Amino acid sequence: MAESKENVLMEKIVSLCKRRGFIYQSSEIYGGINGFWDYGPLGAELKRNVKELWWNTMTRQRDDVVGLEATIIMSPQIWKASGHVDTFSDPMIDCKTCKGRFRADQTHEIPCPQKPSKMVSECHGEKTPPRAFNLMFQTYVGPVQDDSAIAYLRPETAQAIFAQFKNVLETSRQKVPFGIAQVGKAFRNEVTPRNFTFRSREFEQMELEFFIKPDEVVEAIAGRVASTAEIGNRKSEIGNPDWGWEAWHKYWVEQRIAFYEGIGLPRTTLVEYWQKPEELAHYARACVDILFTFPFGTQELEGIAARSDFDLSQHERFSGKPMGVFEEELRTAWNQLPKEKQDALWRRYYENRKKYLVKMGVAEETAARDATEDANGLAKGQYIPHVIEPSAGVDRLILALIANAYSEDQMPDEKGKPETRVVLKFHPRVAPIKVAVLPLLKNKPELVKKAQAVRDQLRPWMNVFYDDAGAIGRRYRRQDEAGTPFCITIDFDTLGEKPELQDTVTMRHRDDGKQERLAIGELLNWLLPKIR
Ligand code: ATP
Repeated sequence: MAESKENVLMEKIVSLCKRRGFIYQSSEIYGGINGFWDYGPLGAELKRNVKELWWNTMTRQRDDVVGLEATIIMSPQIWKASGHVDTFSDPMIDCKTCKGRFRADQTHEIPCPQKPSKMVSECHGEKTPPRAFNLMFQTYVGPVQDDSAIAYLRPETAQAIFAQFKNVLETSRQKVPFGIAQVGKAFRNEVTPRNFTFRSREFEQMELEFFIKPDEVVEAIAGRVASTAEIGNRKSEIGNPDWGWEAWHKYWVEQRIAFYEGIGLPRTTLVEYWQKPEELAHYARACVDILFTFPFGTQELEGIAARSDFDLSQHERFSGKPMGVFEEELRTAWNQLPKEKQDALWRRYYENRKKYLVKMGVAEETAARDATEDANGLAKGQYIPHVIEPSAGVDRLILALIANAYSEDQMPDEKGKPETRVVLKFHPRVAPIKVAVLPLLKNKPELVKKAQAVRDQLRPWMNVFYDDAGAIGRRYRRQDEAGTPFCITIDFDTLGEKPELQDTVTMRHRDDGKQERLAIGELLNWLLPKIR
């Protein structure tokens, strides 16, 4: 049977990734290990660029977000509080005939044992009933391997942000609304890792927890909460006091889509999927998945969830440490509100707190007492912040960038004959190599010396690749496959063969092969705005 176009494309991508050193199977010399991938020289650069761009956009270029770098192994209590110990599981079934193990909701296809990038139909043998399988990797801390020493590799980076919320608040001089960002490894023992790196067992996340005031507090201070109809792209008005959770949620969805467009994923490849009420996690008020059109289907790149005050509340209950904040502004505003307004806001806050507590299994009476205490806190300027969480996967983004960049076209070879070339059309911002410096001939010391001087001039500013081996056309093709947007060729004119061209170079553009002549002295100023 002919393979589908999508499968063929996926195979080409997997093969290019290996051939050019983007992604290798982990432990390949021992037959590999399912669900684990290593990034080679080009992949490591690409990944680093993506993480740095995220970090710069989300933290350094903003006044209202700060960073965190927490440990992978944390107190197991964190995963109790977050719900991961009890509920972070997928339904798993076993096939009695082929002995395969699958996710009950994904039994139609499995990765081919010979070629993991390819999906094959699974056998129709009898299956066991589904049972819950916890996705957390478990380990032991210390020398004694008993239950008291059990710990987990984090299945997401977000929980550390909640656990350190108070420390960051107290040491960073931030005030709600503000965010804490983190990039790092996460581990999930996925039942069926699939689609190359898309679903891996070890991967990286880029997560932001953006803490905001609950709507009742916004209303107490600003007198109103902006309606969804009013909320356009209000970048210039960030932090407007009337922004409730819907405004902030919408704002972050727009910011994240703009980020993807800014690194070369066209809007047409992205889908903004608003989860239906029945799909939402019980604590979430809304969740938007940003999906990308991969060759194997349109799938999630990032989720942006409005998670209410669930996370901080859970950690407050499990740790016994207060997670709320105090704001003089709220206390003052509250005391100036008319009694009816106070009562209405008090009631709404109380109902939300009580609903949450009851859902968590707290007895009705205790929940009512605790919720009363929480709502009474408003008058004292106290509340538990809510949170908007944009959570993205680095590896999925890398795969999306490679899939989006992959193209084949016709370009004339050395003799002008058209030949098919493979080219990765990365946005220069993410490209692993920004510029290749190529002396026309390797055995002409003047050319080599000049080329090395150009390389050394550019190197402090960007990743430069120096290549003097082989015909110039072949060197261009190699850079096309690596996704290098610009190639600089040093030729005899550079040395002054045509005096008017002395100290100029050929700048060759990857996407259309066009060439132009530029002075060495202007290279840096020409390149910098294109790669940043
Ligand atoms: P999925 O439904 O695809 O399993 P999820 O909704 O469980 O994903 P989240 O828990 O929201 O994912 O994690 C946030 C992001 O982390 C995802 O959008 C994705 O980019 C990334 N991610 C999650 N699981 C994996 C994985 N197994 N491999 C690679 N990236 C992952």
